[in-house]
Amino acid sequence: MTKTLLLDLTRDQLRELVQSWGEPAYRGNQIYDWLHKNLVTDPAQMTNLPKKLRERLAAETFINPLELIVQVDDARGETRKALFRLPDGSTIEVVLMLYDKRRTVCISTQVGCGIGCPFCATGMGGLTRNLSPGEIIAQVHWFERWLRQDSPDSEGLVVQRPSRVTNIVVMGMGEPLANYDAAMQALRAIADPKTFALSARNITLSTVGLVPRIDQLAEESLPIRLAVSLHAPTDRLRNKLVPINKRYNLSKLMDALVRYQEKTRRRVTFEYAMMRGINDAVEQAHLLADLLTPLRKAHVNLIPLNPTPGSPYQPSSTEAVRRFQQALEDAGVTTTVRLRRGVEISAGCGQLRQATQQPEVLKFIRQ
Ligand code: SAH
Ligand code: SF4
Repeated sequence: MTKTLLLDLTRDQLRELVQSWGEPAYRGNQIYDWLHKNLVTDPAQMTNLPKKLRERLAAETFINPLELIVQVDDARGETRKALFRLPDGSTIEVVLMLYDKRRTVCISTQVGCGIGCPFCATGMGGLTRNLSPGEIIAQVHWFERWLRQDSPDSEGLVVQRPSRVTNIVVMGMGEPLANYDAAMQALRAIADPKTFALSARNITLSTVGLVPRIDQLAEESLPIRLAVSLHAPTDRLRNKLVPINKRYNLSKLMDALVRYQEKTRRRVTFEYAMMRGINDAVEQAHLLADLLTPLRKAHVNLIPLNPTPGSPYQPSSTEAVRRFQQALEDAGVTTTVRLRRGVEISAGCGQLRQATQQPEVLKFIRQ
């Protein structure tokens, strides 16, 4: 019999499960709180449950689907990247980032990714499978448990414990809107004010722009922030860099984002990975500013590309980034240049996983 991952179940589903075992429904609430508030990893710790129920949980369910393969910190102690193995042998990356007084976890929603952006390490291997809601939630819980430990030892990271996760970015492996239901169930659990209680406003979901899903997201009651991976100001270039653009072109995408902003009153941000000689010319900044005009309040994050082994794309020079940024600012678009944090620990999307698929690299990282 395959065991049920308890984190996959909503509160209602847990209540139904225990009822099907002949227990009162409130036992489901108790278990839900142990899982999502106390973050226990073993039913034996659920001390207010009858022993029989704890034993049945231990026999038929499990709580933590993540087995740590390797974790790597950057030299400044600001970033910790972890590679995990899931029960079926798949591997995923999760990153903890410590800066601006924030403790941000970057989570994955799929094993691999089917979109196939040619500059992205995750995209190169294609999609293996979607993650389940519990497999997404567990990534946040993993780092939250570590942060909550009352310990004078920060293990070399620039953080004082105990503390808490303050922010979540859904910017790890995979396209979250291609795994919509699982991603939303996970984020709802994380933002549930009765349990984990992380403010939805501190959650940012990044997408390449699946138009029907953006419209669906606009209808959700969960006020998370939306980031869109643009990377190109014209269809011609974006068709190449973000192939889903052939299905949902820039005009369809922008229309959807205008609808989204009107409906939610929340500003959309854009990710623009700067690639030398590809998308970093000043004329392209002008085209980008024009493209964003209908949104009025757009913000662009400029990120010098993290070069991915096996991909021909290179990062733009600091000078090119500066000129591009200036052109956007002159046109009234606000911008941030994001540092390439974690480059040294392969913290680009899917890069640690890619590196560790070569055994000699894994040996090097472990030393
Ligand atoms: N699939 C979603 C979310 C995960 S990727 C998306 O693409 O939006 C998070 C961000 O990292 C995206 O903006 C993606 O384009 C960017 N990215 C991927 N590979 C990168 C690289 N090598 N250098 C810089 N940014 C990269
Ligand atoms: Fe997938 Fe995002 Fe990577 Fe593109 S950038 S391949 S959508 S994970």
